[in-house]
Amino acid sequence: MHCPFCRHADSRVIDSRTSDDGLSIRRRRQCPQCGGRFTTVETASLNVIKRSGVIEPFSREKVMSGVRKACQGRPVTEGDLAMLAQAVEEAVRQTGASQIDTNEIGLTILGPLRDLDEVAYLRFASVYQAFDSLEDFEASIAQLRADHAAEATE
Ligand SMILES: [Zn+2]
Repeated sequence: MHCPFCRHADSRVIDSRTSDDGLSIRRRRQCPQCGGRFTTVETASLNVIKRSGVIEPFSREKVMSGVRKACQGRPVTEGDLAMLAQAVEEAVRQTGASQIDTNEIGLTILGPLRDLDEVAYLRFASVYQAFDSLEDFEASIAQLRADHAAEATE
């Protein structure tokens, strides 16, 4: 890590702390040559393999835009979407994977989206699980009803 002040090729870490969401590490560094102090932020790389084969960095904004369409007309706020995207990123990072394909991200979105809004969940699931008949919707709705019944008797 070059010193941003004098371009010295080395620096010393004087403090490290993990961000609140646990996804990055901030390091305070000091240059042994000029004494200048600066901060670096390290995040483990996480890449997404698109259907086309193109690899790009994971983006919470892309998760949000993918889910936003399914939430049209539903009582879901931008804050809700941001929380969902964060939950998805944490779930993916917890697997320890450095690459994930878009289909796996879609499946990871289903759990938190179902907790957020069941209509949006059904819309989203119909795309990602490739529902191709009314029976697929009926089976998903029956599953939601069964889970509600189980929650009601708990
Ligand atoms: Zn320096």
